[in-house]
Amino acid sequence: MHKIGIDLGGTKIEGILLDEKLNVSERIRIPTQQEKGYKSIIESIVSLVNELKIKTNDSVTIGISTPGAISKQTNLIKNSNTQCLIGKPLKEDLKKALDQDITIENDANCFAIAEATMGAAKNYDVVFGVIMGTGVGGGIVMNGHIHRGRTNIAGEWGHHTLRINGNKCYCGKNGCVETYIGGPALEKRWTELTGKTELLPIIIQKLDNQKGQKWKNEFLENFGIALANVIDILDPDVIVLGGGISNIPFLYDEGRDSVYDKVFSDMVDTPILKNQLGDSAGVFGASLL
Ligand SMILES: [Zn+2]
Repeated sequence: MHKIGIDLGGTKIEGILLDEKLNVSERIRIPTQQEKGYKSIIESIVSLVNELKIKTNDSVTIGISTPGAISKQTNLIKNSNTQCLIGKPLKEDLKKALDQDITIENDANCFAIAEATMGAAKNYDVVFGVIMGTGVGGGIVMNGHIHRGRTNIAGEWGHHTLRINGNKCYCGKNGCVETYIGGPALEKRWTELTGKTELLPIIIQKLDNQKGQKWKNEFLENFGIALANVIDILDPDVIVLGGGISNIPFLYDEGRDSVYDKVFSDMVDTPILKNQLGDSAGVFGASLL
């Protein structure tokens, strides 16, 4: 039995085909054309799966990593920052279009299970996997199993409230973590402080001045509170960071110290590690479902 994993991201859709020994036999990436809407996303996934399927004569399992979660009440997608998916029966539509049963899982859960199984968190029991990119999400893995929670939202730390009456969030609330430490939020804050529109990799090269320090201190403060809250409640054995923002080096020393400062405990040594699977965690996680 071969395995197909599909990672439906905000900007790209990636697919891999794994053989019985979990070796990658094929990998394909295409852009997500979000602006073309839901139907186009379904069509893209179907053509990607078909392209992978013809590479093997074996039968395949199909797992899909998606932003958001499937509501237990309605079976429709909820809580997705790829907003054209919200309220859509993604699983049913894909099953029909592919003429095969599939597994769908939240992208942060896929990230967490991949890092816990074959990445940075391989030797830890309770893993909190963090995605910080355009959206901010998280997933919890306990002893090799995804902890989904009663309503499939376990680990969704990106939408817990950091500031009452704070920034407006697409989810309908104010002050969510994502509106402070998500990529677009960080770039927007940079523009407010400096008047310049620049991308994160450029911004982090320019922090050795007053405005840069202010931007960085706010970021560290928000990152620290947001993850200290997670440690207070879950006390995981390890935290693994993923998503584009996880490439920022200062999160692993100054960021970690900011987290530790805020934890409610006489001791805190929770490792905060960079992912090992990079961009591919989602697609591996999906194939492992
Ligand atoms: Zn929110």
